[in-house]
Amino acid sequence: TVAVVLYTSDLRVHDHPPLRAALDGAQEVVPLFVRDPAVDRAGFAAANRLAFLADCLVDLDRALGERGGRLVVRKGDTVSEVRALVRQTEADEVHLAGGVTAFARAREERLRKVLEEDGCRLYVHDGVVDVVPPGDVTPQGSDHFAVFTPYYRRWAGEPLRTPLSAPREVRVPTGVRSERMPRRSGIADVSPGLAAGGESEGRKRLASWLTAHGDAYEQRHDDLAGDVTSRLSPYLHFGAVSALEAVQRARKRGGAGAEAFVRQLCWRDFHRQVLAARPGAAGADYRPRHDRWRRGAGAEADLAAWREGRTGYPVVDAAMRQLAHEGWMHNRGRLLTASFLTKTLYIDWREGARHFLDLLVDGDVANNQLNWQWVAGTGTDSRPHRVLNPVLQGKRYDPDGVYVRRWVPELAGLGAPAVHEPWRLSGLDRAAYDYPDPLIGLSDGLERFRRGRGTS
Ligand code: FAD
Repeated sequence: TVAVVLYTSDLRVHDHPPLRAALDGAQEVVPLFVRDPAVDRAGFAAANRLAFLADCLVDLDRALGERGGRLVVRKGDTVSEVRALVRQTEADEVHLAGGVTAFARAREERLRKVLEEDGCRLYVHDGVVDVVPPGDVTPQGSDHFAVFTPYYRRWAGEPLRTPLSAPREVRVPTGVRSERMPRRSGIADVSPGLAAGGESEGRKRLASWLTAHGDAYEQRHDDLAGDVTSRLSPYLHFGAVSALEAVQRARKRGGAGAEAFVRQLCWRDFHRQVLAARPGAAGADYRPRHDRWRRGAGAEADLAAWREGRTGYPVVDAAMRQLAHEGWMHNRGRLLTASFLTKTLYIDWREGARHFLDLLVDGDVANNQLNWQWVAGTGTDSRPHRVLNPVLQGKRYDPDGVYVRRWVPELAGLGAPAVHEPWRLSGLDRAAYDYPDPLIGLSDGLERFRRGRGTS
């Protein structure tokens, strides 16, 4: 018998329930990845993610190769490609990890229908991409949690399975055609500092980070220059590292740092269960508050300055430039740049989310759109009117100015705290720095925010 394992955002061999189930039930398995143009059309084919994806596919092919198998890559409509392969190999099972986006759900439905006609069974596995699948914990009277803390309490008490080991052997039927593996080197416009992708890299990173920074994380995760967070987000986004395994390994290690890291991983599941219940929140306000975002030429110019990292607020510009250079941004940077765009410049969160998705290597529908909504006050934040002050944020989370000087070299000659407020310099001192004045004064921004939400 033959089974097909359709890989999507679960590009690994360790802790992979669909692969394990397929190997348990069939003599031969086709590990398949389909490069679907529908994903490109939806605007998700950003260069950084394609490059990281290429690394992941190459690494997965190598890992399967070590076990006697290989990865089959196809291009085209996923459902048609799976169907063709099922017919060719006479497979009677297809295994797939469950998804939460509207796109993933529709794909599952189409697959189920088409495979049924061919007498082939579709198995959709939960708990492959997330730790606790959406819907496993719900509050009374609702299909999802809208507040994080009670969700976390329930989530943390859920019993978890033991992570699965990688299979010893994977036998792939002969005569199955594959496209050539994509290569990162063939992709244009990749950020120069983009991390290397793949399961091997991700596993190394998880192990070395837990040893080196697992303890410091609780105290220092917001330290912009210290950069002690795990940087596992792209590996988790592509499923090169299992979130469940990351939780289990952190818990085994123990300590306050490890528990703080587990709590962050819970945020990932939190947003996934919101999106699973409200797929429309990928584009529409989860909690509609207003529709009075600034538009027009002034707003367009401000948006361009924000994207390019020349707002005149050093910590905002530093974070935006880190994003362009690495295809990744520190969480504190994401919070303060998103707050600046939506609450100080008063520009629609969708504009910012789009720019992030164009560049972020971990750009993810659930995490990106719902974090943007959280910051913009249209999402699940219970204090939707809080505004982050970029000067205070800079002084607090980059007290020595190291992060700003790293990313905004025009200000390299300035110490802290002056580096966070270069406009306070006067005369020739100010003229020595080729750096823009702030786009807007913070009190003007606050005033605009108050007016916008109709409270002044
Ligand atoms: P760590 O601090 O080491 O945390 C470990 C893991 O926990 C992360 O890898 C991530 O999977 C998860 N996590 C941490 N914080 C969050 C959070 N707030 N929400 C959801 N999961 C979290 N994360 C993405 O993975 N993709 C996105 O597209 C994305 N867009 C964001 C947009 C905005 C405006 C904001 C404020 C946050 C966004 N985040 C996103 C969440 C968070 O910023 C990143 O997950 C984190 O910075 C990744 O770095 P790390 O792996 O070093 O995190």
